[in-house]
Amino acid sequence: EWVDLSEVMEGAIHKSVFRARKKGLDIEYSVQDRLPLAYCDGNRMTQVFINLLDNAIRYTEKGRISVTMWQEEDGIKIAVTDTGMGIPEAELPYIFDRFYRVEKSRSRQYGGTGLGLAIVKNLVELQGGTIFVTSKLEKGTRFELTFPNVAETETRGEDR
Ligand code: ATP
Ligand code: MG
Repeated sequence: EWVDLSEVMEGAIHKSVFRARKKGLDIEYSVQDRLPLAYCDGNRMTQVFINLLDNAIRYTEKGRISVTMWQEEDGIKIAVTDTGMGIPEAELPYIFDRFYRVEKSRSRQYGGTGLGLAIVKNLVELQGGTIFVTSKLEKGTRFELTFPNVAETETRGEDR
């Protein structure tokens, strides 16, 4: 189906904003005008965005979470960035593995099963997308997604 990913993201943010506020975190959101539709499954994308926001909120104690969406030559880009605890460089290659959790002490404190990102990566790739992460310990983490299957801009119409 052709999906407006900005609408999907707005729904996911709406579901996450209460938990963010409880920790004193704002979710900044900006989307490029006239973002084209993407060919993907809206429900699965909701799951992807909620998982990424859940992590951003859970692993951030202060600062902000920001979500941006824009278009580039190779498709729609989505970035979820936080100012949280970050991920040690040596562990970055494993965070998309099933049941992988960073640092035992951290895991005990924050709960979770270690499945979130494995599911996210699967869902993204099933829909022809890619995901990559950059992170700096104690500075923050950024997940960037690319969805190459976009509609011609014209089909978007003027109704935005
Ligand atoms: P759950 O299955 O409930 O999502 P989880 O959050 O531990 O459990 P993943 O979402 O797969 O599992 O994340 C794997 C690990 O990567 C986490 O344990 C966490 O240490 C680290 N991580 C994920 N996202 C972030 C983030 N935004 N900032 C810092 N660390 C993160
Ligand atoms: Mg998680």
